[in-house]
Amino acid sequence: MPYPVVHVLFFLFCVGIVAVYAITGPLYRRELSFSDARKLLLLAFVGGACTLFPDIMVVYNIIINNTMEHCSIGSIPTHSLLFSFTAILFGGLVGYAAFREFSKAVYMAIFAESAFLTHLLLDDIAEGGCEYLYPLYSSPISVFSMMDTGFAAAGSLFHYLMVSIVSVFCVFVVILMALFALDKFGFEFGYRKEK
Ligand SMILES: [Zn+2]
Repeated sequence: MPYPVVHVLFFLFCVGIVAVYAITGPLYRRELSFSDARKLLLLAFVGGACTLFPDIMVVYNIIINNTMEHCSIGSIPTHSLLFSFTAILFGGLVGYAAFREFSKAVYMAIFAESAFLTHLLLDDIAEGGCEYLYPLYSSPISVFSMMDTGFAAAGSLFHYLMVSIVSVFCVFVVILMALFALDKFGFEFGYRKEK
């Protein structure tokens, strides 16, 4: 598994690169207010914390069982879409507590879910798959090994294209969720027409 710090930095600086880019100027010009700084810290906290949720059991197991086991709570795998509801719940509660607006709670939940899912994608790259679809399908699936499917393995051009589109689409959706949420928190991304 990638180290925890890799998960956090990957989400904040690779998926959240547009936010980092957007605040660099105002930060340099000292244009950020206290409430801006508070919001940024809150986003960094929620995003950073939720990238670590899938490995959360390692804390319990190190203390209680003296092992590094971290992939399940009982029979439920933590590297799954099912367990990602913990991130949605956490993001929603923090968002509501901070802004007292249902819509902001929803956007924070989407941001938290995106952070959680980047953890699964990184583990997928490092370890060759996650149990994304538990309990519907209990074996590990690898989004990235699908990308490596050739014409011969796919069997037909249609299947090859479908596999390629699905694998890229999974990564696209995760990044899009983070961008959508950031947009709702004031990072407005838009096309600027050249004059
Ligand atoms: Zn993990």
